[in-house]
Amino acid sequence: MKDKTNHDPKQGTRFLVDVMLGKLARWLRVLGWDTEYRKDKSIDELLDRAAREGRVLLTRKQLEHERLVYIKSEILEEQLKQLERQFGVITDARPFTRCIECNRMLERTDKKTVRGRVPFYTYSTQESFYTCPGCGKVYWPGSHHQAMLKKVEELKTLK
Ligand SMILES: [Zn+2]
Repeated sequence: MKDKTNHDPKQGTRFLVDVMLGKLARWLRVLGWDTEYRKDKSIDELLDRAAREGRVLLTRKQLEHERLVYIKSEILEEQLKQLERQFGVITDARPFTRCIECNRMLERTDKKTVRGRVPFYTYSTQESFYTCPGCGKVYWPGSHHQAMLKKVEELKTLK
């Protein structure tokens, strides 16, 4: 993880993901992409919001619209491959820079401030901590499940 000040301009694409693609939304956040996820909106409302915020709407609905990308597969790896071809989401990924729960950029935080908020073992063995300014969740390099780290490595080989 890098400080948010080192923002990569290649990460300019922002996404809005509809309800059928919750898992994909989570993975785009893991990869560091600005990804909003909405459960309760109609396709028209989603398109309005995408236009207003300059986002690309990802959906399983097969519609023609300049802001909309139809996701062909139901399989996560295939979906990410499609988005790799169209947006380079794996090539330009910045894994683990963004809160998976609420999409905010994580901020590097002083170790002292997370004392008591992370397991004692973690506190005593880790030096770098990051917090989400939205929900307060604390992250550290080992806090993402090992399987998730492995998956990111696997995704790199899919390109
Ligand atoms: Zn958060």
